Amino acid sequence: SQPLSEVDPEIAAALSDELGRQRDTLEMIASENFVPRAILQTQGSVLTNKYAEGYPGRRYYGGCEFVDVAENLAIQRAKDLFGAEHANVQPHAGAQANVAVMQALMNHGDTLMGLSLAHGGHLTHGMKLNFSGKNYRIAAYEVDPDTYRVDMDKVREQALAEKPAVIVAGWSAYPRQLDFAAFREIADEVGAKLWVDMAHFAGLVAAGLHPNPVPHADVVSSTVHKTLSGPRSGFILTTEEYRKKIDSAVFPGQQGGPLMHAIAGKAVAFKIAAGQEFAERQQRTIQGAQLLAERLTAADVAEHGVSVLTGGTDVHLVLVDLRDSQLDGRQAEDLLHEVGITVNRNSVPWDPRPPMTTSGLRIGTPALATRGFGETEFREVAEIIASALKPSPDVEALQARVKKLAADFPLYGGLEQW
Ligand code: PLP
Repeated sequence: SQPLSEVDPEIAAALSDELGRQRDTLEMIASENFVPRAILQTQGSVLTNKYAEGYPGRRYYGGCEFVDVAENLAIQRAKDLFGAEHANVQPHAGAQANVAVMQALMNHGDTLMGLSLAHGGHLTHGMKLNFSGKNYRIAAYEVDPDTYRVDMDKVREQALAEKPAVIVAGWSAYPRQLDFAAFREIADEVGAKLWVDMAHFAGLVAAGLHPNPVPHADVVSSTVHKTLSGPRSGFILTTEEYRKKIDSAVFPGQQGGPLMHAIAGKAVAFKIAAGQEFAERQQRTIQGAQLLAERLTAADVAEHGVSVLTGGTDVHLVLVDLRDSQLDGRQAEDLLHEVGITVNRNSVPWDPRPPMTTSGLRIGTPALATRGFGETEFREVAEIIASALKPSPDVEALQARVKKLAADFPLYGGLEQW
């Protein structure tokens, strides 16, 4: 019954400091977001105490009647939100969801075709040190060197040559929409299964602002904590055909006891994502990214060697190309950090600099949209970033502008009760 601040003052201080950081700076890491207080409540709830191996109604532990309610709600809401025949809401995180998908759809040594990590794909889509790269033969596709977009004619050619068992469509750093129907056609032509990893853009899909992969894919995996703004976790949607394989790959194939506090949080996130307010927020998210891309491609910025991959964005992030700038990715990340804006450096395709330095930035708008930012604030943020990336920025003046924006949109009022 003792509060955290008494049991462990050092950890309580880390929580306080992190809350302060989230409040006082502008969070623009494309994969991050702020969960609503209702989800913080589920995450810090008594559900964390419960073992519930198995699935609702078929558990290997007693006392699961109430966690069954939570999991059934999460399943039903995920199915309704994305129009899926089946949902598995147990994956602890996106990477775990992806391991289960691979286990369900492939045999050891089969060929997986996914977007190269260096071109915006995810670790779990075939990076050589990852489970995917170690257990399967990888045939990575790349973006086109002129357009920086995925060229479906080239994907088709490569699929015909490589005969993959599975093609994965999805990304962690790509500013455009993928053509799921074309991926489906190619998968059918070469006898592959189609897996879509919508971890990044699931929130946009839920809001109807991005094509839904569910009607095209055999299996769709996702995280819940990026644009979808729920608890840090994963889930999988499938057709009825793959239901059993996926469920058994998650448990007992991959995981033991599910994190019921996180699953309750997923149920809440899916409920919120079905609402009008959420859709409006996703609209502001995309609008913010487009305003940023527009500002960073204007002549006064471009003349200093800054550009934006593909010239713009259709989603919640912008990929800044610094190959011709005097700043490298690391310097630009550090500079923005000093100003009070958190982003991550990111390799651009065919990056001449090493991965710890990079020649790019990935900048996302979901967290600021959740904070309440609209057109006016995103224009101001874009202006601040543009000024920071030009030579000799007035860092103090930019810091003051960031502070004002943060103060105008307070976060988690009165939360520090630990
Ligand atoms: N898939 C994609 C496309 C991602 O971008 C990510 C996370 O960045 C993941 C999967 C993995 O999610 P997690 O970090 O929750 O394991």
